[in-house]
Amino acid sequence: KAKKNLGQNFLIDHDAIMGIVEAAQVKPGDQVIEIGPGIGSLTEQLLLAGAKVFAYEVDDSLPEILHNELPQTIDGEDLDSRFKLMLKDVLKADFDHDLAGFFDLNKGVKVVANLPYYITTPIIFGLAESNLNFESLTLMMQKEVAERLVASPGNKAFGPLSIAVQTEMDVKIALEVKNTSFMPSPKVDSSVVVLTPLENKPDIPNRKHFNWVVKMCFSQRRKTLNNNLKNVIPDKDEREKLISSLGVDPRVRPEDLTISQFIQIAKAIPMKQ
Ligand code: SAM
Repeated sequence: KAKKNLGQNFLIDHDAIMGIVEAAQVKPGDQVIEIGPGIGSLTEQLLLAGAKVFAYEVDDSLPEILHNELPQTIDGEDLDSRFKLMLKDVLKADFDHDLAGFFDLNKGVKVVANLPYYITTPIIFGLAESNLNFESLTLMMQKEVAERLVASPGNKAFGPLSIAVQTEMDVKIALEVKNTSFMPSPKVDSSVVVLTPLENKPDIPNRKHFNWVVKMCFSQRRKTLNNNLKNVIPDKDEREKLISSLGVDPRVRPEDLTISQFIQIAKAIPMKQ
């Protein structure tokens, strides 16, 4: 029986499963980390596509079912040489340590998952900040979160999450998946998002400061930037000078600014103690 508190919505739609494998461009020899294999529907297709799969799962009632569901030999190789399961919360993963001996850590890794939705953003940030040398993250998530990840300026979904992710990664929606493709079916539809590390990351000297400034700029989304900055820059002249240096209308709203303008604002605001 699926455990709701662990975000267990198992994929039952073959096209959706194959859609994830294609979006991740899995090819023979790829090293794939899967988060939450569940009963193995996606795992099986990753293995058949030729990947070596390392999976993190927290539900200790699943490994036995999983082992029985998966093919015992793949391309003439033992399941054990192609698949390894670790019973561990992925948020507590120590990739270098966990993967050593199974993956060649000099090579890149792909992360593929039908995520437990309750921890979608911690997982994305956890992976981005980890020492993992990943080529891409292909992740199924709630459609609404996917829309926030890809949103560009001027879109009402554009906000701190879009900015935090897009300053590190290129983000694309690969496919949309109806809620009826899962068992049990969640209330909302989902999307598969592919994230790849940016080759040229923007220069952000202090991430924490930057994220804090962005958060302050969006503290009241429907107010102007000028209004939102009052707590950060109390002096009216100073505030206006900064806003005019951005070359934008003084009544601009935060969601209409570009990422480079947020970087410019962060550079102009002193670091918080
Ligand atoms: N991959 C399967 C599929 O597509 O049918 C299951 C996906 S289900 C949405 C999410 C899976 O993640 C469940 O098997 C759940 O037990 C597991 N899970 C939940 N929290 C986790 C965590 N913190 N670390 C690792 N796995 C987790």
